[in-house]
Amino acid sequence: MSLHVHKYGGTSVGTAEKIQNVAKKLVDEKNATGHDLVVVVSAMSGETNRMTDLAQLMQSAPSKKQMDVLLSTGEQVTIALLCMALEELGQAASSFTGGQVKIITDNSHSKARIEEIQTDNIQAALNDNKIVVVAGFQGVTAEGAITTLGRGGSDTTAVALAAALKADECRIYTDVDGVYTTDPRVEPKAQRLAKITFEEMLEMASLGSKILQIRSVEFAGKYNVPLRVLSTFVDGEGTLITYEDDEMEKALISGIAFNRDEAKVTLAGVPDMPGVASAILKPISEANIEIDMIVQNVAEDKTTDFTFTVHRNDYDKTLQILQNICAELGAEKVDGDNKIVKVSIVGVGMRSHAGIASQMFTALADEGINIRMISTSEIKISVVVDEKYLELAVRTLHESFGLSGE
Ligand code: ASP
Ligand code: MG
Repeated sequence: MSLHVHKYGGTSVGTAEKIQNVAKKLVDEKNATGHDLVVVVSAMSGETNRMTDLAQLMQSAPSKKQMDVLLSTGEQVTIALLCMALEELGQAASSFTGGQVKIITDNSHSKARIEEIQTDNIQAALNDNKIVVVAGFQGVTAEGAITTLGRGGSDTTAVALAAALKADECRIYTDVDGVYTTDPRVEPKAQRLAKITFEEMLEMASLGSKILQIRSVEFAGKYNVPLRVLSTFVDGEGTLITYEDDEMEKALISGIAFNRDEAKVTLAGVPDMPGVASAILKPISEANIEIDMIVQNVAEDKTTDFTFTVHRNDYDKTLQILQNICAELGAEKVDGDNKIVKVSIVGVGMRSHAGIASQMFTALADEGINIRMISTSEIKISVVVDEKYLELAVRTLHESFGLSGE
């Protein structure tokens, strides 16, 4: 018997009517295919935020433990409502919280990691021909405390259940009909990808395409869970996230990703000697500021420039820290720019093709776009450019790498 795991996000279950619509889809699918169905749901849209705001009224910094007790209720509401809607359609269904399944996590409240999933309870319900409805985003510690998996964590619940149950496919139903070559709001010619590799999806996701929780993609790659992203509201094949095949290697570039919220800072004229990079970055990491790209120039006159990028929210704090260590390190000055963005091309095809970087830089140069920083990995090339060029850069690259279709 084949088994499918479905996940419906907050916007797919955001109203009573939408929950009824999901119930109907599930019954139709079960009747048409005979698949066993395990369904993971999010809280109704807006609920997690609403509860977070409520908590703020009680305490300025509520404990993560209590936040988990609070936020996990959102998903519990949805599982009960969806089971009612299914039963109303004559379909037997069973609801499970994370604790009832026994999704065992570590005890890092608010960002817990799944350690083990017991499948007996779910299996028993499936054997009774029920649709199983599981609350996403939550688990329990071995001691029984409620935990949550971080924002967007229902995706990870779905993938982890699919892996544990050896499901034939894990389908993430959402409000977009798949993964696109870039954000269609920036480039209307963006096209839905029929397939993308786990690795490419990880790069696209970490670069700001917020369709899936990053951890769910890592999990799917690790356990080889075929993952499909598709729309709850319109029929279609969606995008399959899977292992690389020959077909995929033929495409040079799969997508153009970008990140708007970037800022860069430079410490100029730092002495070129051992220990300087670590002396610069240590106070930054101690302030819990995440660094992305790092560039250090070749030294001239025994001094060098050290530049890195941070999230725009951390810009002021980062400048402050650098001002403090500037004199200490005998550096010349601190500089910064928070009107920059990062644009990246992503594709496993670049492993086996030369000249991709030069094609990218030529395309940007032809439009008069100045590149401020560059970084590369095996399947990605990123450039930092001025914010005002974001749209132009994305569209130019989209066109240049043949992603816009005919
Ligand atoms: N309800 C949680 C959130 O809004 C988990 C999820 O929807 O995946 O982040
Ligand atoms: Mg989500």
